[in-house]
Amino acid sequence: MSKCIKDLIKNLNLVIGCPIGCDYCYARNNCRRFHITDDFSKPEYYEQKIKILEREKPGNWLLTGMSDLCAWKDEWLQAAFQKLKENPQHEAIFLSKRPDLLKIDTDLPNAWFGVTITRKSDLWRLQVLKKNVKARHFHVTFEPLFDDPGEVDLTGIDWIVVGTMTGAMKKKVHTEPAWAYGLTEQAHALEIPVFMKEDLVPIIGEENMVQELPDAFNKVLEGAGRPVDVRSARTGMEWRPEKC
Ligand code: SF4
Repeated sequence: MSKCIKDLIKNLNLVIGCPIGCDYCYARNNCRRFHITDDFSKPEYYEQKIKILEREKPGNWLLTGMSDLCAWKDEWLQAAFQKLKENPQHEAIFLSKRPDLLKIDTDLPNAWFGVTITRKSDLWRLQVLKKNVKARHFHVTFEPLFDDPGEVDLTGIDWIVVGTMTGAMKKKVHTEPAWAYGLTEQAHALEIPVFMKEDLVPIIGEENMVQELPDAFNKVLEGAGRPVDVRSARTGMEWRPEKC
């Protein structure tokens, strides 16, 4: 049975708001619906939330679930880094669509930096991420996908996530099975773990789902007393979709 990624990686929205303006942004919709901030295009920092990282119980945290890292002020990022340094029991994930605006240098073992890729023309983000961010771990989220990313240079990437459009637009746009399989095969060829988000189940079938986490994330879940049956990277090309 496929796992919901939110059960494995929790949102910790230290910053709410993003100026990028994607038309499918669920965070902006939620922000408006629940009146969280006055203007989603202006990021706001919620300082008190950082205390969550002081918990002894380990956690995998997405810190940019309602923001984009490119719009974080440096002082917000440094505060997060400091907490992650003091609390190595946690793993933290940061995502951006504008790596060209990032300038980060950290050797934190528990900070993961990634870009979102939604189409082939976004592939530049991967190279720019690795150029502008000096860090120990990189990841890529392919979601939502509007076309086939095709051949992707995943060198130096430690994890990929593949998803599809959700919400009202999902009838018009969705990830084709062949796109998800192509990304999975490319990642597995480099022994990179792949996590297909549960929204892909109706598209590719439960039997074809691949849900792998990096070792560090599995370790956190074990440490939190909730080991899950998600494997770390499969080696080579052993995975094949059952229906293709
Ligand atoms: S980058 Fe992310 S947070 Fe910002 S508008 Fe787009 S989907 Fe929303």
